[in-house]
Amino acid sequence: MLRTRFAPSPTGLLHLGNAYSALYCEQWAKQQQAQLWLRIEDIDHTRCRPPYIQAIRDDLTWLGMSWQNEAPLQSARLHVYEHVLKELQQQDLIYPCFCTRRDFALHSPSTVESRWQCPQACAQLSSSARQRQMAQKSYAMRLNCAVARHGTASDLAWQDHQQQYHHVWDELNADPIIGRKDIRYSYHLCVVVDDAEQGITHIIRGMDLLPSTAIHRLLQALLSLPSPLYAHHPLLLDNQGQRLAKRVASTALQAMRETGVSAASVRQKLRR
Ligand code: GLU
Repeated sequence: MLRTRFAPSPTGLLHLGNAYSALYCEQWAKQQQAQLWLRIEDIDHTRCRPPYIQAIRDDLTWLGMSWQNEAPLQSARLHVYEHVLKELQQQDLIYPCFCTRRDFALHSPSTVESRWQCPQACAQLSSSARQRQMAQKSYAMRLNCAVARHGTASDLAWQDHQQQYHHVWDELNADPIIGRKDIRYSYHLCVVVDDAEQGITHIIRGMDLLPSTAIHRLLQALLSLPSPLYAHHPLLLDNQGQRLAKRVASTALQAMRETGVSAASVRQKLRR
């Protein structure tokens, strides 16, 4: 059974760009007779707001979209992500990183080999220095690419819908964040775990997430999870050529609906 998902984050009201993405998934699912799941990704408690969860369902329903299943909210699955984080920790694949934004701004890696490392090379700290800093500072958890590389194929790749392969080790340019300073489980970790558990075979999402796909593929390899096929669609731009943002109220579906715009005309406008 082929299955895709539309996975919005409830950080604001859905706008035309989100509708475009949702309809893109829907169209693909219809053409392939695949299942379409809705998964609301509310892991970022600093930006997600509960009222937007129902607003997303209402907007999609208004748009005439139907989905076969709604996956559980990510906020209800923290125990699952914790388990996976521990698994990575036990294999020494992650390390606490104490670097600040300023450290990164001043950093320019001198060698190709050091390009993944954070500016202060936190992965190299002795265990006592690490413990001391952990007691004093906030930290993110990063995936140690140098260690991960030993345990995975040198030609590790992800595949797009045009049968093209993208090589993970060419695309990764820093040790990825697996747990943020303020959120213990990153988007990368949760999305990979959920896609595997929910049997997602095809991931259709915007171009903005293209750089994340190498990270996802690497996590799949490290966790022995299947790798879906990926398609990244172009982003909808405004008249100035900028990406639509949730903070621009005029493109919100809810605002359009309230001013009498019909769902049919939105669909027509977004038709590819
Ligand atoms: N929740 C993510 C977002 O709203 C999308 C995740 C994905 O499709 O992989 O940007």
